[in-house]
Amino acid sequence: MAQERTFIAVKPDGVQRGLIGEIIKRFEVKGFKLVAMKMMQASEEHLTEHYIDLKGKGFFPELIKYMSSGPVVAMVWEGLGAVKTGRVMLGATNPADSNPGTIRGDFCIEVGRNIIHGSDSVESAKKEIALWFTDSELVSYKSCAADWL
Ligand code: UDP
Ligand code: MG
Repeated sequence: MAQERTFIAVKPDGVQRGLIGEIIKRFEVKGFKLVAMKMMQASEEHLTEHYIDLKGKGFFPELIKYMSSGPVVAMVWEGLGAVKTGRVMLGATNPADSNPGTIRGDFCIEVGRNIIHGSDSVESAKKEIALWFTDSELVSYKSCAADWL
């Protein structure tokens, strides 16, 4: 495993349901380092670019409507194997299949309201981070916990 960065976003339902803090907490206590974060109302154009690989799917229009229905909290988390471990922390895409103890397994029920996004590969993480953040928004610092993790 290598030091990686992953793009994580609290979706509009996660924001409205008061789960921002809970989600940040899980990544924070796990030991990952927060390198960027902002709340924003994403446009349909921006979200279409973010989900471009899913454009042919039947649920795509509904997905864009859902994701643009309110603000999201976009974040970049860094650490050893952050992409793969981040996906494990999220749980399966469909909350009906997400294990208890995962974010989706603990806090949601429906695939169309699954509260959180996480990059599925290092390559898509790079693309997503570049789409959501400028270079200057990615903060460079050493965490005092780094040597203890
Ligand atoms: N989605 C949906 N219905 C489906 C599959 C996916 O509404 O049958 C939504 C869901 O919000 C999911 C997002 O589309 O998180 C992106 O799908 P993907 O397969 O990339 O899942 P993820 O990477 O988010 O686990
Ligand atoms: Mg995906």
